[in-house]
Amino acid sequence: MSSRRDALRKIFNSAMIAGSGGLVWGTVASSAAKSPLALRPPGALVDDKFVQACIKCGKCVVACPYDTLMLAEVTEDKCLGTPFFEPRKIPCYLCTNYPCIKACPSGALLIDNIQQESEPANIENARMGLAVVHKESCIAFSGIQCDVCYRACPLMGKAIVLVKEKNEFTGKHANLKPVVNSDYCTGCGICEKVCIVEKAAIFILPVDLVTGKTGDHYVNSWEKNDEKRIENRETLQRSTDEDVESAIEYLNSDNELFEE
Ligand code: SF4
Ligand code: SF4
Ligand code: SF4
Repeated sequence: MSSRRDALRKIFNSAMIAGSGGLVWGTVASSAAKSPLALRPPGALVDDKFVQACIKCGKCVVACPYDTLMLAEVTEDKCLGTPFFEPRKIPCYLCTNYPCIKACPSGALLIDNIQQESEPANIENARMGLAVVHKESCIAFSGIQCDVCYRACPLMGKAIVLVKEKNEFTGKHANLKPVVNSDYCTGCGICEKVCIVEKAAIFILPVDLVTGKTGDHYVNSWEKNDEKRIENRETLQRSTDEDVESAIEYLNSDNELFEE
Protein backbone atom coordinates (compact mmCIF):
# COMPACT_ATOMS: atom_id res chain seq x y z
CA MET A 1 0.00 0.00 0.00
CA SER A 2 1.48 3.42 -0.89
CA SER A 3 1.46 6.08 1.80
CA ARG A 4 -1.53 8.15 2.69
CA ARG A 5 0.84 11.11 2.40
CA ASP A 6 0.90 10.60 -1.40
CA ALA A 7 -2.86 10.84 -1.55
CA LEU A 8 -2.83 14.02 0.52
CA ARG A 9 -0.08 15.43 -1.71
CA LYS A 10 -2.23 14.80 -4.78
CA ILE A 11 -5.19 16.48 -3.16
CA PHE A 12 -2.99 19.44 -2.21
CA ASN A 13 -1.64 19.65 -5.79
CA SER A 14 -5.15 19.61 -7.20
CA ALA A 15 -6.25 22.31 -4.80
CA MET A 16 -3.24 24.45 -5.79
CA ILE A 17 -4.04 23.96 -9.45
CA ALA A 18 -7.69 24.72 -8.83
CA GLY A 19 -6.75 27.95 -7.12
CA SER A 20 -4.41 29.07 -9.88
CA GLY A 21 -6.97 30.82 -12.05
CA GLY A 22 -9.54 30.63 -14.79
CA LEU A 23 -7.15 29.33 -17.43
CA VAL A 24 -6.71 26.02 -15.67
CA TRP A 25 -10.41 25.71 -14.89
CA GLY A 26 -11.08 26.38 -18.56
CA THR A 27 -8.99 23.29 -19.19
CA VAL A 28 -11.02 21.44 -16.56
CA ALA A 29 -14.29 22.31 -18.24
CA SER A 30 -13.07 21.32 -21.70
CA SER A 31 -11.43 18.13 -20.48
CA ALA A 32 -14.64 17.12 -18.69
CA ALA A 33 -15.96 15.72 -21.92
CA LYS A 34 -12.64 14.04 -22.70
CA SER A 35 -12.50 11.31 -20.10
CA PRO A 36 -14.26 8.42 -21.84
CA LEU A 37 -11.72 5.91 -20.54
CA ALA A 38 -11.64 6.98 -16.90
CA LEU A 39 -12.78 4.36 -14.42
CA ARG A 40 -14.58 6.05 -11.54
CA PRO A 41 -15.08 4.90 -7.93
CA PRO A 42 -18.10 2.74 -7.06
CA GLY A 43 -21.45 4.50 -6.93
CA ALA A 44 -20.34 7.23 -9.37
CA LEU A 45 -22.91 9.09 -11.44
CA VAL A 46 -22.60 8.63 -15.22
CA ASP A 47 -19.43 10.36 -16.33
CA ASP A 48 -20.65 13.78 -17.59
CA LYS A 49 -22.90 14.16 -14.52
CA PHE A 50 -20.07 12.86 -12.33
CA VAL A 51 -17.55 15.49 -13.45
CA GLN A 52 -20.13 18.22 -12.90
CA ALA A 53 -21.07 17.01 -9.42
CA CYS A 54 -17.56 16.18 -8.15
CA ILE A 55 -16.05 19.08 -6.20
CA LYS A 56 -12.54 17.55 -6.41
CA CYS A 57 -12.22 17.41 -2.64
CA GLY A 58 -10.34 14.09 -2.62
CA LYS A 59 -12.24 12.73 0.39
CA CYS A 60 -12.92 9.45 -1.42
CA VAL A 61 -9.18 9.11 -2.13
CA VAL A 62 -8.33 9.54 1.54
CA ALA A 63 -11.12 7.18 2.66
CA CYS A 64 -9.99 4.28 0.45
CA PRO A 65 -8.00 1.81 2.61
CA TYR A 66 -6.20 0.35 -0.42
CA ASP A 67 -5.07 3.65 -2.01
CA THR A 68 -6.95 2.56 -5.12
CA LEU A 69 -8.15 6.01 -6.05
CA MET A 70 -6.07 8.79 -7.57
CA LEU A 71 -6.95 12.34 -8.51
CA ALA A 72 -6.39 13.26 -12.15
CA GLU A 73 -3.48 15.60 -12.70
CA VAL A 74 -3.06 18.18 -15.47
CA THR A 75 -1.08 15.80 -17.67
CA GLU A 76 -3.80 13.14 -17.61
CA ASP A 77 -6.61 13.02 -20.14
CA LYS A 78 -9.24 13.01 -17.44
CA CYS A 79 -11.10 15.85 -15.85
CA LEU A 80 -8.54 17.54 -13.59
CA GLY A 81 -8.88 16.76 -9.88
CA THR A 82 -11.49 14.02 -10.28
CA PRO A 83 -10.92 10.55 -8.79
CA PHE A 84 -10.26 7.52 -10.94
CA PHE A 85 -8.43 4.21 -10.66
CA GLU A 86 -6.21 2.02 -12.78
CA PRO A 87 -6.87 -1.66 -12.03
CA ARG A 88 -3.46 -2.74 -13.26
CA LYS A 89 -1.89 -0.62 -10.51
CA ILE A 90 -4.45 -1.09 -7.72
CA PRO A 91 -7.96 -2.46 -8.35
CA CYS A 92 -11.03 -1.72 -6.23
CA TYR A 93 -11.33 -4.36 -3.52
CA LEU A 94 -15.08 -3.87 -3.14
CA CYS A 95 -15.12 -2.85 0.54
CA THR A 96 -18.42 -4.04 1.92
CA ASN A 97 -18.78 -0.79 3.89
CA TYR A 98 -17.92 1.37 0.79
CA PRO A 99 -16.00 4.12 2.67
CA CYS A 100 -15.34 6.09 -0.54
CA ILE A 101 -19.05 6.54 -1.21
CA LYS A 102 -19.79 7.44 2.39
CA ALA A 103 -17.04 10.06 2.34
CA CYS A 104 -18.36 11.88 -0.73
CA PRO A 105 -20.04 15.16 0.29
CA SER A 106 -21.31 16.18 -3.16
CA GLY A 107 -23.47 13.30 -4.37
CA ALA A 108 -20.99 12.47 -7.15
CA LEU A 109 -20.78 9.02 -5.50
CA LEU A 110 -24.19 7.79 -4.42
CA ILE A 111 -25.21 4.86 -2.23
CA ASP A 112 -28.41 4.68 -4.35
CA ASN A 113 -26.25 3.58 -7.27
CA ILE A 114 -25.28 0.36 -5.48
CA GLN A 115 -28.80 -0.36 -4.32
CA GLN A 116 -31.37 -2.43 -6.17
CA GLU A 117 -35.03 -1.66 -5.53
CA SER A 118 -35.80 -2.07 -1.81
CA GLU A 119 -32.74 -4.22 -1.00
CA PRO A 120 -29.93 -2.86 1.18
CA ALA A 121 -26.95 -1.26 -0.57
CA ASN A 122 -24.44 -3.84 -1.74
CA ILE A 123 -21.03 -3.05 -3.23
CA GLU A 124 -21.51 -5.98 -5.63
CA ASN A 125 -24.04 -3.80 -7.45
CA ALA A 126 -21.28 -1.33 -8.37
CA ARG A 127 -20.74 -0.97 -12.13
CA MET A 128 -17.38 0.83 -12.41
CA GLY A 129 -16.63 -0.78 -15.75
CA LEU A 130 -16.85 -4.11 -17.50
CA ALA A 131 -14.15 -6.76 -17.91
CA VAL A 132 -13.33 -7.69 -21.50
CA VAL A 133 -11.26 -10.74 -22.49
CA HIS A 134 -8.82 -10.47 -25.40
CA LYS A 135 -9.02 -14.03 -26.68
CA GLU A 136 -5.85 -13.84 -28.76
CA SER A 137 -3.65 -13.14 -25.72
CA CYS A 138 -5.54 -15.17 -23.10
CA ILE A 139 -3.62 -18.44 -22.80
CA ALA A 140 -6.77 -20.33 -21.74
CA PHE A 141 -8.05 -19.82 -25.28
CA SER A 142 -4.90 -21.51 -26.61
CA GLY A 143 -5.54 -24.64 -24.57
CA ILE A 144 -3.19 -23.87 -21.65
CA GLN A 145 -4.86 -24.32 -18.30
CA CYS A 146 -5.24 -20.99 -16.51
CA ASP A 147 -8.07 -19.91 -14.25
CA VAL A 148 -6.29 -17.17 -12.31
CA CYS A 149 -8.78 -14.40 -13.15
CA TYR A 150 -11.70 -16.72 -12.48
CA ARG A 151 -10.41 -17.63 -9.02
CA ALA A 152 -9.50 -14.06 -8.08
CA CYS A 153 -12.91 -12.64 -9.01
CA PRO A 154 -14.93 -11.71 -5.90
CA LEU A 155 -18.00 -12.87 -7.81
CA MET A 156 -16.43 -16.10 -9.03
CA GLY A 157 -18.89 -18.22 -11.00
CA LYS A 158 -21.19 -15.24 -11.54
CA ALA A 159 -19.17 -12.36 -13.02
CA ILE A 160 -16.74 -14.80 -14.67
CA VAL A 161 -17.60 -18.36 -15.60
CA LEU A 162 -15.39 -21.00 -17.19
CA VAL A 163 -16.89 -22.39 -20.35
CA LYS A 164 -15.73 -25.84 -21.42
CA GLU A 165 -14.92 -26.29 -25.12
CA LYS A 166 -13.29 -29.07 -27.11
CA ASN A 167 -9.64 -28.43 -27.93
CA GLU A 168 -9.63 -28.46 -31.72
CA PHE A 169 -5.83 -29.05 -31.91
CA THR A 170 -5.65 -32.23 -29.86
CA GLY A 171 -9.24 -33.30 -30.48
CA LYS A 172 -9.47 -34.93 -27.04
CA HIS A 173 -8.75 -32.28 -24.40
CA ALA A 174 -11.04 -29.54 -23.16
CA ASN A 175 -10.27 -25.82 -22.98
CA LEU A 176 -11.73 -23.89 -20.06
CA LYS A 177 -12.31 -20.37 -21.29
CA PRO A 178 -13.11 -17.39 -19.06
CA VAL A 179 -16.30 -15.61 -20.08
CA VAL A 180 -17.51 -12.41 -18.37
CA ASN A 181 -21.17 -11.92 -17.49
CA SER A 182 -22.08 -8.23 -17.71
CA ASP A 183 -25.08 -8.74 -15.42
CA TYR A 184 -22.71 -9.31 -12.50
CA CYS A 185 -19.30 -7.81 -13.34
CA THR A 186 -18.59 -4.84 -11.06
CA GLY A 187 -15.58 -3.57 -13.03
CA CYS A 188 -13.43 -3.86 -9.89
CA GLY A 189 -10.44 -4.87 -12.00
CA ILE A 190 -9.07 -7.58 -9.69
CA CYS A 191 -9.01 -9.94 -12.69
CA GLU A 192 -6.94 -7.44 -14.69
CA LYS A 193 -4.52 -7.01 -11.78
CA VAL A 194 -3.88 -10.74 -11.39
CA CYS A 195 -3.76 -11.75 -15.07
CA ILE A 196 -0.48 -13.58 -15.59
CA VAL A 197 0.36 -12.74 -19.21
CA GLU A 198 2.79 -9.96 -20.13
CA LYS A 199 0.04 -7.42 -20.79
CA ALA A 200 -3.27 -8.36 -19.14
CA ALA A 201 -5.54 -10.30 -21.48
CA ILE A 202 -8.55 -9.30 -19.39
CA PHE A 203 -9.05 -5.60 -18.78
CA ILE A 204 -11.69 -3.14 -17.68
CA LEU A 205 -13.34 -0.61 -19.93
CA PRO A 206 -16.15 1.83 -19.18
CA VAL A 207 -19.50 0.03 -19.51
CA ASP A 208 -20.86 2.36 -22.20
CA LEU A 209 -17.89 1.70 -24.46
CA VAL A 210 -18.32 -2.06 -24.52
CA THR A 211 -22.07 -2.60 -24.38
CA GLY A 212 -24.80 -2.40 -26.99
CA LYS A 213 -28.56 -1.96 -26.62
CA THR A 214 -31.10 -4.42 -28.00
CA GLY A 215 -34.05 -2.02 -28.21
CA ASP A 216 -37.57 -2.33 -26.80
CA HIS A 217 -38.97 -4.25 -29.78
CA TYR A 218 -36.86 -7.35 -28.98
CA VAL A 219 -38.33 -9.12 -25.98
CA ASN A 220 -37.10 -12.10 -23.98
CA SER A 221 -40.40 -13.31 -22.56
CA TRP A 222 -38.58 -15.43 -19.95
CA GLU A 223 -36.86 -12.38 -18.40
CA LYS A 224 -38.64 -10.59 -15.56
CA ASN A 225 -37.38 -7.12 -16.53
CA ASP A 226 -38.78 -7.54 -20.02
CA GLU A 227 -42.39 -7.27 -18.77
CA LYS A 228 -41.99 -3.50 -19.04
CA ARG A 229 -40.65 -3.85 -22.56
CA ILE A 230 -43.64 -6.02 -23.53
CA GLU A 231 -45.92 -3.20 -22.32
CA ASN A 232 -43.90 -0.72 -24.42
CA ARG A 233 -44.17 -3.02 -27.42
CA GLU A 234 -47.97 -3.24 -27.02
CA THR A 235 -48.20 0.57 -26.96
CA LEU A 236 -46.01 0.71 -30.07
CA GLN A 237 -48.11 -1.98 -31.79
CA ARG A 238 -51.36 -0.10 -31.02
CA SER A 239 -50.02 3.13 -32.48
CA THR A 240 -48.72 1.24 -35.57
CA ASP A 241 -52.19 -0.31 -36.11
CA GLU A 242 -53.76 3.15 -35.86
CA ASP A 243 -51.22 4.51 -38.36
CA VAL A 244 -52.07 1.73 -40.84
CA GLU A 245 -55.82 2.41 -40.50
CA SER A 246 -55.42 6.13 -41.07
CA ALA A 247 -53.15 5.45 -44.08
CA ILE A 248 -55.84 3.17 -45.65
CA GLU A 249 -58.49 5.81 -44.95
CA TYR A 250 -56.32 8.41 -46.63
CA LEU A 251 -55.69 6.25 -49.71
CA ASN A 252 -59.43 5.60 -50.10
CA SER A 253 -60.22 9.30 -49.92
CA ASP A 254 -60.14 11.71 -52.86
CA ASN A 255 -57.32 13.82 -51.41
CA GLU A 256 -54.39 14.58 -53.68
CA LEU A 257 -51.13 13.06 -52.49
CA PHE A 258 -49.14 16.20 -53.29
CA GLU A 259 -50.73 19.63 -53.24
CA GLU A 260 -49.74 21.75 -56.25
S1 SF4 B 1 -14.83 0.22 -2.44
FE1 SF4 B 1 -13.03 0.23 -1.12
S2 SF4 B 1 -11.33 -0.38 -2.43
FE2 SF4 B 1 -13.00 0.22 -3.77
S3 SF4 B 1 -12.55 2.39 -4.19
FE3 SF4 B 1 -14.02 2.33 -2.49
S4 SF4 B 1 -12.78 2.42 -0.68
FE4 SF4 B 1 -11.41 1.85 -2.37
S1 SF4 C 1 -15.40 12.56 -2.45
FE1 SF4 C 1 -16.92 12.94 -4.07
S2 SF4 C 1 -16.71 15.14 -4.53
FE2 SF4 C 1 -14.84 14.53 -3.40
S3 SF4 C 1 -13.36 13.94 -5.02
FE3 SF4 C 1 -14.42 12.05 -4.41
S4 SF4 C 1 -16.12 11.88 -5.90
FE4 SF4 C 1 -15.39 14.02 -5.98
S1 SF4 D 1 -13.88 -6.83 -12.96
FE1 SF4 D 1 -13.08 -8.95 -13.08
S2 SF4 D 1 -12.75 -9.56 -10.94
FE2 SF4 D 1 -14.10 -7.74 -10.89
S3 SF4 D 1 -16.21 -8.56 -10.90
FE3 SF4 D 1 -15.66 -8.20 -13.07
S4 SF4 D 1 -14.85 -10.15 -13.78
FE4 SF4 D 1 -14.82 -10.24 -11.53
